[in-house]
Amino acid sequence: MGAQFDRRGRPFRDLRISVTDRCNMRCDYCMPADVFDANHEFLPRSDLLTFEEIEEVVISLIPHGLKKVRITGGEPLLRRNLEVLIRMLSKHSLDLALTTNGLLFTSRAEALANAGLNRVTFSLDSLDPVTFERITGKSGHSIQRIIEGIEKAVTLGLSPVRINSVIRRGVNEADIERLIERFQHLPVALRFIEFMDVGNHNRWDLASVVPSEEIRKHVEERWVLQPTPSLHSGQVAQHWSLDSDTGFEVGFISSVTEPFCGDCNRARLSANGHIYTCLFATSGHDLRPVLRNPKGLETVTEQFHTIWSEREDRYSELRAQPRSPTAIYLPRVEMSYIGG
Ligand code: SAM
Ligand code: SF4
Ligand code: SF4
Repeated sequence: MGAQFDRRGRPFRDLRISVTDRCNMRCDYCMPADVFDANHEFLPRSDLLTFEEIEEVVISLIPHGLKKVRITGGEPLLRRNLEVLIRMLSKHSLDLALTTNGLLFTSRAEALANAGLNRVTFSLDSLDPVTFERITGKSGHSIQRIIEGIEKAVTLGLSPVRINSVIRRGVNEADIERLIERFQHLPVALRFIEFMDVGNHNRWDLASVVPSEEIRKHVEERWVLQPTPSLHSGQVAQHWSLDSDTGFEVGFISSVTEPFCGDCNRARLSANGHIYTCLFATSGHDLRPVLRNPKGLETVTEQFHTIWSEREDRYSELRAQPRSPTAIYLPRVEMSYIGG
């Protein structure tokens, strides 16, 4: 079986796997502390896919064209023995990446690299301790721990090491320059992400979005940017190299102002085994009945064939239209559940 195409002719290539819906941060744009509080019901542990089940899903999707797997969450490093899963998945010749907030990374870095992890993306929105704490609910002292994690990932060759930063108006615009100044001497890609209306609780409004174009112009007032060629279709970020010889790059993920649905080749697997074909989906497809029924006739490979061939999602393009259909405003799954 070759690559499989959806109704809009998009191939399947990329799977994001959420291994937990829990997190040790409470970023206000993702898991606001007043919503994700002591009363919030996280998934019971018994609902989580086992590592064996996750591997089975991955194996089942390879015939459909799967090339890249990203482990995410919630905070994936909260999942016990994550290294074991990485080792299991590393046998399948896929590009294997991890997205983390970096709090727990340094002490696990060598074990993850030895297990076969190829790359890491860190999320870091501010280098200012007060702003960092206001966004994440964590002490500003954590910034240093995250930076150590980034440096460790570079040393271990988990490259390209990426740093994702969500810039919001009136919150952390000053970090655009601060982050470049701090990281331009490292061979990392710093990517500015437009604030998205994922989930139902992050109090998104268009006025808080700082368009990539605006950030790029701001950066160009101080630094010279050279466009770098994109590696493949489906790449979400446009990257630019800075006038430096360290390999440092700046990237922009413009999901709001320049939707890239036309190239979107990504599916998401939630921690409890639901496949979502869009970050803004209102419902998913539960794989567990098939996964957990060895006597059943249908396989995950067959189930996924139907899911992908019926896929039509293009939420970000619809959002950008002047009068979007009201259906797109139905309650959506949360980013921490579906996997960012
Ligand atoms: N906890 C890990 C982390 O923060 O890297 C992995 C999961 S997190 C959901 C993945 C990415 O989604 C992070 O880089 C985060 O900044 C991004 N994200 C979460 N909510 C977002 C939003 N509303 N708009 C844009 N990016 C968002
Ligand atoms: Fe946690 Fe990542 Fe969401 Fe922040 S962005 S709350 S670190 S899952
Ligand atoms: Fe892909 Fe959905 Fe995002 Fe469009 S809105 S790029 S289809 S995840």
